[in-house]
Order: sequence, then C-alpha cells, then structure tokens
Amino acid sequence: MITTLSLSETAWNEISRHAQETFPDECCGVVLSNGTTDRAQRLRNIQNDLHALDPKTYPRTAAIAYNMDLKVLDSLLLEAEKIGYTLKAFYHSHPNHDAYFSPEDRDAATPFGEPTYPDTAQIVVSIYDRVVRTVRAFAWSDSKKDFIEVPL
Ligand SMILES: [Zn+2]
Repeated sequence: MITTLSLSETAWNEISRHAQETFPDECCGVVLSNGTTDRAQRLRNIQNDLHALDPKTYPRTAAIAYNMDLKVLDSLLLEAEKIGYTLKAFYHSHPNHDAYFSPEDRDAATPFGEPTYPDTAQIVVSIYDRVVRTVRAFAWSDSKKDFIEVPL
C-alpha cells in the first residue's frame, strides 16, 4: 500500500491552477507518472451534466461533488500506458470546504465495497476564494479497510 506521496512541483502547480480555474466548482483529474516525470492531467467534472439530466439520482451539483467520465478515464489510461505512464493519483478539489476525504469520496472510490484503484493515492485540495488553502492525500489501507491520510 501507499505510505507516502511525492509529486513534482510542476504537477502541484497544475493541480492548483485547475482548482482555481474551476472554482467555485470542484475540479478533478489524475496524475500520471513514468517514474521520473509526473504529469497532471485534467478531466472534466461531469457532475452538472448528470445533475441536469437526473437530479433525483444526482442531487448534488459540481459545487459539492465531482464525477468523471469513466470511458474518458479508461482511454486516457490506455494512451498513457502506451508511452510508459501509469496512474499515480487521482485529485479533486473542495471549494470552500476543508481537504478531508468525505463519505461520498469514499463511496466513489469503492463502488463495490473494495477500492477500484487500491494502489492509487487520492489527493484533495481545499480552496477558498480561489486560493488553495491545504492539500492532503489519502490511500487505501488493507488492514483498516478504509482510506487513511498519507504524508505528502
Ligand atoms: Zn471530495
């Protein structure tokens, strides 16, 4: 399991910029790595589309939730693999909220009870008034059967 997470400054800057640009909505994306280079890759938060189509199933808007197009994610990961990049972390932002791993975040990461990506860190960025306040990372613990915070 993941015990610590370190990302390049370039990747952190890109994640911060993404969180600032989508504020006051949540942003989401992935960090890909080839072992030496980290690359933050933006994904579109489709939560507002889902909410507009089916507000009963998706009562939350993008201000307090995120959702990725899993087909887009899958093809992105396939393309990345071809050039030697693997999935290192997911990230999303919490506009005007702290950087905690919420029960909804946990549900999204464990749709069938077990984590879909057990070896991938989950980064949460807290951003207030377009200023990034805190960043925390979480990873699945097999013994705790839950996500626990990992040092950055
Ligand atoms: Zn969240």
